[in-house]
Amino acid sequence: MLARLLRFSFCLVLFSLTMPNSVSAADASTLSAGAAKIDITDYSAGPVNDPLYVKVVAIKDDSLTTVLISVDAVAIGEIGRIKNDYLPTMRKRLESELGIPPSHVLVNASHCHGVILPDITDHTVRAVKEAISHMTPVRIGAGSGSENRIMENRRLKLKNGQEIDVRHAYSLPPDEEVAGVGATDPEIGVLRLDRENGETLAVIYNFACHPIQGVPNGANTADIIGYASQVIEDNLSEGTLALFLQGCAGDINPAYYKDVDHPRSAEPLGNLLGLSTLKAVRQIECKPDNRLAMLNQTLTLPRSDLADKIAELDAEERRLLGNLQGTTLNFKTFMSLMLKHKLSPEFPSYYSHRYLYDEVQERSDLRSLDAQNRKAVQAYLQNVFTMEKLTRLQANRALLRKHQTNMVDSGKRTIDVEVTALRIGDFVLLTFPGELTSPVGMNIKGNSPHDLTYVAGYTNGYIYYCPTVEQMQNRGGAQEDSDCLLAPEWQEKFETTAAEMLKQL
Ligand SMILES: [Zn+2]
Repeated sequence: MLARLLRFSFCLVLFSLTMPNSVSAADASTLSAGAAKIDITDYSAGPVNDPLYVKVVAIKDDSLTTVLISVDAVAIGEIGRIKNDYLPTMRKRLESELGIPPSHVLVNASHCHGVILPDITDHTVRAVKEAISHMTPVRIGAGSGSENRIMENRRLKLKNGQEIDVRHAYSLPPDEEVAGVGATDPEIGVLRLDRENGETLAVIYNFACHPIQGVPNGANTADIIGYASQVIEDNLSEGTLALFLQGCAGDINPAYYKDVDHPRSAEPLGNLLGLSTLKAVRQIECKPDNRLAMLNQTLTLPRSDLADKIAELDAEERRLLGNLQGTTLNFKTFMSLMLKHKLSPEFPSYYSHRYLYDEVQERSDLRSLDAQNRKAVQAYLQNVFTMEKLTRLQANRALLRKHQTNMVDSGKRTIDVEVTALRIGDFVLLTFPGELTSPVGMNIKGNSPHDLTYVAGYTNGYIYYCPTVEQMQNRGGAQEDSDCLLAPEWQEKFETTAAEMLKQL
């Protein structure tokens, strides 16, 4: 059993909660915080719609500093501009130059698909230094907002029991095959940090949605998150920083992601998210609160051997290829016949009076022609649907093959991941490096003893998608279950660890 191979090391750092704050706050019951952002847009990579940022909120109690970083990038390592050495190199520099232990540095990717500068490590360190140079005593408060208009679960349940996901990489199935949709989590987790004079210093917010809607001009963009953060920053005190922490968005897409009738735009979606976050921010009352704690644990998770699943998909591909049948039509004749039979199912080939003449003269020439054409259209359509299935199968099998090759090359059947649990006042956060799907996030929230518990994927590394055991049964059918290197045992292992860590906060 893979589960038996699991091993985990444990590293615990719990900040002192009771010692007087001797650094910058006159009052022992307050924390200090500083915020900064730096534009990391690669302006040489093509047209830019809106800037991408690295943002930092540094929070300090009497003894230690915790640093929260968000990057408008697709992931912390593995894919996109941020390389795998970013996290260790950046943390090492923060430790040597600022004395901040690596385990107190948390970095989350917003998962927007924008293009950032290659020297992201330097910019991150610079932003952290700037935040720390502006530390000021803060009052804090936490609360939840809600937004359910801008996203949808991207997994569609089909009548045959399989699941398909909504991607641009391939077609959706025929409408009549779709039986249901999955759940979404509308909760926005909010931490508000105010200066002692009552002005807002920063808002940290957590929500789950792939920020991949794009902008009509196709230019570089921070997508939904860029717009949401701008709305928050523009409507609070001058200089307020809005720092986003991406949630369990593995199976969550923007609404109308496949729209072909309107220019797709992240702007209205981001504005709605920003406004809903502001609504929650305004209800939060900030108080002196010096509770700051962070746990950091390395968890060893099992990898899957995907060889059998790949062989199954190879066999399915052969079956589908065998289903392709020759028809008399080509695309041109198919399109015109399809249209005519839809426009006038009774009299597709000519005006109705000619059919009446046929009847009077006891002929069925037109009816026979229509019957032949209907059959040919159906056969051609079946080939189209088979082609759509093949494109889905090939795209998802390529992901499975990639992860199988990587596993074989690595010579390892496990992968180490960093899990952190953080408390800032009433705001409790659990982080994980993969693209967690919404049921996992809701399980963790549901099992937490703390009211205001939020979950951030895409944090401190990147291990691709992390679907539930149930979603994994669909392997090969959707990106989330195919672009995944974990074995099903990972979920219980992770959720148990998360619950234990949350209890300790
Ligand atoms: Zn993703």
